[in-house]
Amino acid sequence: MELEKMLEEKAQQLFNGTLRDLTDEQTYITLLSVVKELLADKKTIEGERKVYYFSAEFLIGKLMSNNLINLGIRKEVKEILNKNGKSLSEIEEIENEPSLGNGGLGRLAACFLDSIATLGLPGDGIGLNYHLGLFKQEFKDNKQYETPNPWIGEYSWLNKTKKSYMVEYKDFCLKSTLYDIDVLGYKGDKNKLHLFDIDTVDESIVHDGIAFDKENLLKNLTLFLYPDDSDEDGKKLRVYQQYFMVSNGAQMILEDLKRRKIPLTELDKYVCIQINDTHPSLVIPELIRLLMKEGLTFKKCVQIVSRTCAYTNHTILAEALEKWPMYYLEEIVPQLVPIIEALDAVANERSDNPKTAIIDENKLVHMASMDIHFGFSINGVAAIHTDILKQSELKDFYDLYPKKFNNKTNGITFRRWLMDCDEELTDFIDSLIGEDYKTDADELTKLRDYLNDHDALTRLLDIKQTKKNQLAKVLYDKEGIKVDPESIFDIQIKRLHEYKRQQMNVLYIIYQYLQIKAGHLPAHPITCIFGAKAAPAYILAKDIIHTILCLQQIIDADPEVSPYLKVVMVTNYNVTYAEQLIPACDLSEQISLASKEASGTGNMKMMLNGAVTIGTDDGANVEIHDLVGDKNIYIFGIDSDTVIKHYEKADYHPADVLAKDPELKKLVDFIVSDEMVKVGDHECLERLHHDLCTKDWFMALIDAKDYIETKERAIKDYNDRYAWAKKMLINISAAGYFSSDRTIRQYNEDIWKLK
Ligand SMILES: *Cc1c(COP(=O)(O)O)cnc(C)c1O
Repeated sequence: MELEKMLEEKAQQLFNGTLRDLTDEQTYITLLSVVKELLADKKTIEGERKVYYFSAEFLIGKLMSNNLINLGIRKEVKEILNKNGKSLSEIEEIENEPSLGNGGLGRLAACFLDSIATLGLPGDGIGLNYHLGLFKQEFKDNKQYETPNPWIGEYSWLNKTKKSYMVEYKDFCLKSTLYDIDVLGYKGDKNKLHLFDIDTVDESIVHDGIAFDKENLLKNLTLFLYPDDSDEDGKKLRVYQQYFMVSNGAQMILEDLKRRKIPLTELDKYVCIQINDTHPSLVIPELIRLLMKEGLTFKKCVQIVSRTCAYTNHTILAEALEKWPMYYLEEIVPQLVPIIEALDAVANERSDNPKTAIIDENKLVHMASMDIHFGFSINGVAAIHTDILKQSELKDFYDLYPKKFNNKTNGITFRRWLMDCDEELTDFIDSLIGEDYKTDADELTKLRDYLNDHDALTRLLDIKQTKKNQLAKVLYDKEGIKVDPESIFDIQIKRLHEYKRQQMNVLYIIYQYLQIKAGHLPAHPITCIFGAKAAPAYILAKDIIHTILCLQQIIDADPEVSPYLKVVMVTNYNVTYAEQLIPACDLSEQISLASKEASGTGNMKMMLNGAVTIGTDDGANVEIHDLVGDKNIYIFGIDSDTVIKHYEKADYHPADVLAKDPELKKLVDFIVSDEMVKVGDHECLERLHHDLCTKDWFMALIDAKDYIETKERAIKDYNDRYAWAKKMLINISAAGYFSSDRTIRQYNEDIWKLK
């Protein structure tokens, strides 16, 4: 049926009116219902062998626009709505963003689902349906506060299914309910994201921000992603969640095999399980347990499961490699304990190196160790990250299993991170090189033919200006903040973590502030934009947010400074915000301490949208650097080998750096200056100051001077507008490598081998 007619009929059926009469909210619900029906009619991708992507997070973002693009009806819907006095972008605003992820790892899972479906591969996601998400961020008195982020309304993309499983814990069982979200490929067929839940979750037990009774599993199990784990009950709740996710997923997979009349001994021939970071690692002992219940021997089960599971490592930060005390498992899932002990015994037979044991001398169970021994593939997420895993972090495992290790540099879906978020740039690229790049991203290199085309460069600069104007409006509407759209938009958006070094950006802002106060104006006005959530229990991260907000207030109130320098920290950074920030970015801040950022994907998104990167040779920045060359990126800082040596020798002391560099010391001391203390909380500012002077674990001070000089050079270069436009175009033309379609092709060729 014709689309317009479908919409009119649905409007009639739901609201007894015509499209023209409906409110925006009713229009959204009408459109949602029609799109869900179109999705339901799409063919499910089938194949002999299927991948299941297990992940605690799926940061999928709003789905309307993406679904319209992938259905190939976005322009048509826009016109129909316009004709009826409505705007698609206003209708899209009504959708709540599903709050099912935290940062890069969850967004990667979402990009992967899009690419798996687009490539026509059979592959589903498996996760949990967190009712209140991570948390919603609010600012008060220059501090972060957390509140629940409910996103499931009466109408959503979730489809309730009839599937349900019993999940056994020590003293009780929980019955699951499965919700599915259709994942449509670009102009293709569909897969599913399976989100498990329980019916008894009770949002009303949450009080005072995001506090709740952590022991009431029946009511709290799927309330929040990453419940606060600063106490023992919070840690145990994470184990309850993890087991719930993997047990449901494993039961569903085995049920499906039985339905297809495939013997369970052939599991590995028909199924591949990708374990995204260590949160789903308990799927290994759980699958073994379920197969043993079907009468297979332990040895046989180990063999089958080891050929089925593959593990992706996302970080070399020790704190993120999960270790659960054995007594937690005894208290929560005792049925897994003998299996994990037996797996540990097998691991110890293979190697007597205590560093590769699963259970350590403190009776902690190392999830990653289990994945590496009993998975057939271990991959890092950027070339340098995989090298560091092999050469240092996981060296003992690499020596044991060299063939299991491989690299899969992360990617992003161009449907969302170009076509959806920057229609103007998309249309411009279409007009130059056609549309083939949408399914074959390497085609973007054809843009290099336009490097000396004055008109094309002018148009590119105009589009960036349009996107900056649009962002300026968003910042005014959402935050009440006015920014100068002609200033350089310098953007650092990512979770707040010391290794990402927002604190080093803070030192730059202080430097620039003091320069302006001393009468030295910057080569071009600059707006420094931040977006970041800090984990609720991560004190120092919250102190950094506090410092940024205090600087924002001081600079705003200073008419001498504010025409040249502006600081904006956006509230509740999420995918929707990212889609508005990224197309408007001039300078992309990727300044992690070399060796610490596994890959990053924000760097790729901004490059694709014509931003130039300032960054360290870390994560995927290294590959960006290789692709665009020295002249089209601003690289600074010590390299990863030097960093790793400092850690080995424990010879880095921030006091030494400060003693040698009184200018830098002035910047650091400004954090506790009278100006700052007047608008801020002395304790928070003091704590950050003290940390930087005495610990500075992620070595912000080592690189600060080089960073400031490099950023000043970039600001100068920005004024040569056509030289800058060439850098932009080179970045866009080289971004094809970072399509998640490429990443998924590589996963499939090397790991999944789907047919
Ligand atoms: C891409 C993305 C990230 C990851 O950013 P990095 O800079 O790679 O850490 C985090 N959050 C959101 C909302 C994103 O879209």
